[in-house]
Amino acid sequence: MSPTSDDGPIESIRFHGLEAGPRLIVLGAVHGNEVCGPQAIARAIEDCREGRLTILRGEVTFVPIANPKAYRQKTREGDRNLNRDMREKPQPADYEDRIGNRLCALLRGHDMLLDIHSFTREGPPFVFFGPEDNTGTLEPFRHARAEAAFAACLGTRLLIHGWLDIYARLIGARERLGLPPLSLTEGFGTTEYMRFAGGYGVTLECGRHDDPASADVGHAAIHNALAHLGLTDSLPPPPPRPAIIHMDELVLCEAPGDRLEGNWNTGDAVAAGQLIARRADGEPISATRDSMMIFPNTTPKPGESLCYLGVTSSRGL
Ligand SMILES: [Zn+2]
Repeated sequence: MSPTSDDGPIESIRFHGLEAGPRLIVLGAVHGNEVCGPQAIARAIEDCREGRLTILRGEVTFVPIANPKAYRQKTREGDRNLNRDMREKPQPADYEDRIGNRLCALLRGHDMLLDIHSFTREGPPFVFFGPEDNTGTLEPFRHARAEAAFAACLGTRLLIHGWLDIYARLIGARERLGLPPLSLTEGFGTTEYMRFAGGYGVTLECGRHDDPASADVGHAAIHNALAHLGLTDSLPPPPPRPAIIHMDELVLCEAPGDRLEGNWNTGDAVAAGQLIARRADGEPISATRDSMMIFPNTTPKPGESLCYLGVTSSRGL
């Protein structure tokens, strides 16, 4: 037996509407310890099988467990973070490269992606979506309006954008510190690959990993997505008026001992001048403006983020 043959297959379940329509793919457990996705997807599949959801148009493909090895291990990663460096690799070097090749092929066969995740700490559910329409080199895109409307239909009160721009900044900051270089493709996860492949996609962060409500958020989002895209004839509930946040500031861990100050969660308001972190030598790091805390990192390594900060976006829906 080869050392890789026990990795197991990826299971997908597809419902084909009898009329033409868009092709949606829904992923769970890209990170193996985020079980709300598999739970929400299992419920949605049962809804389809038992007639509580009727797919009339297009197709929906459910991948309940995108990373079977990490899921079995109950860990975020198998060999590495599947949601980084997502692209086809003719010479896969690790487990995530191998399943990445299969997932990329699946993503290419669809028009839009709903990728269901959860997070470690407290905080409200939110959706990450992509850039404005542009012809630049970082992430050229032409479905910004449709993607933002898709993000808004899912039911969360918070939408965040700005990931790849800030990742490029993280790479530059690491270079200045003399840390091992990261390639820009490291910043590419499922949604970035989907945009590269000509579609659009969003990441739904449903809540805390171990909160049963997280699966409810994911399950409702699947129903809302299917209705919004017209795969079902259900009337999507009027979406809440979400706050749209531009994640545009990176606070970097520059040396061992750099640390957050206080007990922060994503979504917390940060006032201008408020202390948020300290350098290893005690030097305070304070917010330069009123902003929102995003992804506080309580176990940062040099070259990683201590946190990100965002402000109200100028983008509309
Ligand atoms: Zn995740």
